[in-house]
This record gives sequence, structure tokens and C-alpha cells, in this order.
Amino acid sequence: MADCLFCKIAAGEIPSTKIYEDEAVYAFADINPQAPFHAIIIPHEHIVSAAEITGENSHLIAKVYEAVAKIAQQEGLQKGFRVVNNCGEDGGQTVGHIHFHLLARRNLQWPPG
Ligand code: 5GP
Ligand code: ZN
Repeated sequence: MADCLFCKIAAGEIPSTKIYEDEAVYAFADINPQAPFHAIIIPHEHIVSAAEITGENSHLIAKVYEAVAKIAQQEGLQKGFRVVNNCGEDGGQTVGHIHFHLLARRNLQWPPG
């Protein structure tokens, strides 16, 4: 997708701090972290949001969660973590390329508000 911020980040056209990458996903440090550890995980493929997940692309979400487990191991997040997907306007999504926040290294409150 030509004008997508996260497509450009995954392609290396906009710099980011890489945390993990494989053939399906790219993970990088959030520029405005909400926890001491805050990664953004995206599929390389441009999917706008969780509202556009289908039988054709749902395997990429499985790959995102495989990456979650690998990053948790890689980063030593044994105490736990939270995965957040904001979808659409009411969900607080500000970038139109599906992404999953991986937050850790502090006691996260519930409900999130
Ligand atoms: P959303 O609000 O859509 O769920 O999350 C978008 C996230 O992307 C935010 O946490 C924001 O800090 C992060 N973000 C926005 N622009 C950039 C950028 O240029 N680089 C990085 N690394 N993160 C960004
Ligand atoms: Zn994109």
C-alpha cells in the first residue's frame, strides 16, 4: 500500500527499531511507549484492521501470535504481558494497517479504560 506508514516502516523506508522479523511479520519499538516494553507487531501484508480478517488472511494473525511468543521468550517477559489490538475509530486505531501492541514490564491495569 503506497501511502501506509506501517508498510513504509516494514519496508525500511521509514526508520524503526526492529525487535523481531520473519517472512510474515515485522515487530518494532513503539515511538510513544505506554509501558517500559512496548512493541508493535504487524503482518507485512497490508490489512486495514481486525474488521477485515477473513478465511484468506487469518493465518497471518496466527503468525502474529507466534511472533508474540517468540518475542516474549527473546525479551524475557516471563512475568507476563498484554497484547492489544485497537480497531476502528471507537477502538482508538490511529494507523490503518492492522497492528498488535505488546506491552510489558509494568503491572498493567484492568479494565483499560
Ligand atoms: P494505534 O493507536 O493505531 O492502536 O497505535 C498506533 C501506534 O503507532 C501508537 O502507539 C503510536 O505511538 C505508534 N506510532 C505512530 N507513528 C509511529 C512511527 O512513526 N514510528 C513508530 N515506531 N511508532 C509509531
Ligand atoms: Zn500498510
